[in-house]
Amino acid sequence: MKAFQIQGKYSGSVIDIPDLHGAAAGEVLLQVKLVGMCGTDLTTFRGGNPMVAFPRIPGHEVAATVIAGAKDLAPGTQATISPYTECRECASCKRGRPNACQFNQTMGVQRDGAMAEYISIPRARIYTANLSLEELCLVEPLTVGAHAASRGRIVSEDTVAVFGCGGIGLGAIASAAFRGTTVIAIDVSDAKLEIARKAGAQHLVNTAREDLHSRLQEITNGVGPDVMIEAIGLPSTFRAAVEEVAFTGRVVYIGYTKEPVSYETRLFVQKELDIMGSRNAMPDDFREVIRMLEAGRFPVSDAVSAIIPPEQAARTLAEWSANPGRYTKVQVRFNS
Ligand SMILES: [Zn+2]
Ligand SMILES: [Zn+2]
Repeated sequence: MKAFQIQGKYSGSVIDIPDLHGAAAGEVLLQVKLVGMCGTDLTTFRGGNPMVAFPRIPGHEVAATVIAGAKDLAPGTQATISPYTECRECASCKRGRPNACQFNQTMGVQRDGAMAEYISIPRARIYTANLSLEELCLVEPLTVGAHAASRGRIVSEDTVAVFGCGGIGLGAIASAAFRGTTVIAIDVSDAKLEIARKAGAQHLVNTAREDLHSRLQEITNGVGPDVMIEAIGLPSTFRAAVEEVAFTGRVVYIGYTKEPVSYETRLFVQKELDIMGSRNAMPDDFREVIRMLEAGRFPVSDAVSAIIPPEQAARTLAEWSANPGRYTKVQVRFNS
């Protein structure tokens, strides 16, 4: 069967891999329909992902149909999947937080992914929903932001500010809005901010021309946002999250910076902040994103930049790498 493989830095092609003859024991055989590519895949293609060894079949954002192996799922049922694994032994797994499993192996990162015609997946990692294939393929990337909203214990009375309106930030904005909060979207691109507005942000701050501090103070009547979510990964925004958040507020970091960040640690104590990391997503996050998409609360067509055949994947990744602003989300269509 056909698969898309990244062989090394800036090199990828469609290859032939052995057919799957049915599902693996205890698993479900899925026919892959759409696989999303995100910043992680772009980083892999650039040779910049330390968790990836080449050659690697990418793909962790999946829309598929059930072929065989599940007693409770009729063949033809449309589904999406969770691409993570859990070891059940590490501290995170024992605490009931397998999203942060120390030995997690995400599909397409530490092991081969879903960019193939068929995949075999444990039943527990399959989610069905009343959604289109494009929407199903967006569930996993949106869960990463939904998990950040969950980590921030966001409730409807909160004002939440989100740094970054790329794929991950949009998920956080949409999930915060779905929880009924006041959401402030922060970016340097008016086009991205406009999509954030459609995802539910009431306030838009373009820091290319507006002063972040005065805008946040104005919107929050001088208090600062209750929750700051950082989804960019720059030292300046890591620091600004702590500086701008309200006293006794919560700060959630999804990305991470390439370089160490220096902080005014006095603020941690003076404001008595809760500062949290957020990694991957939990089953509840998948269910919440599915409810949000089923409610039509996300601008799906704005968030998907292109749908391409596997034969164009390498060229598209090269174009994306040369011009990062060109795409937000690319989906690769299999079995069309
Ligand atoms: Zn992704
Ligand atoms: Zn574990």
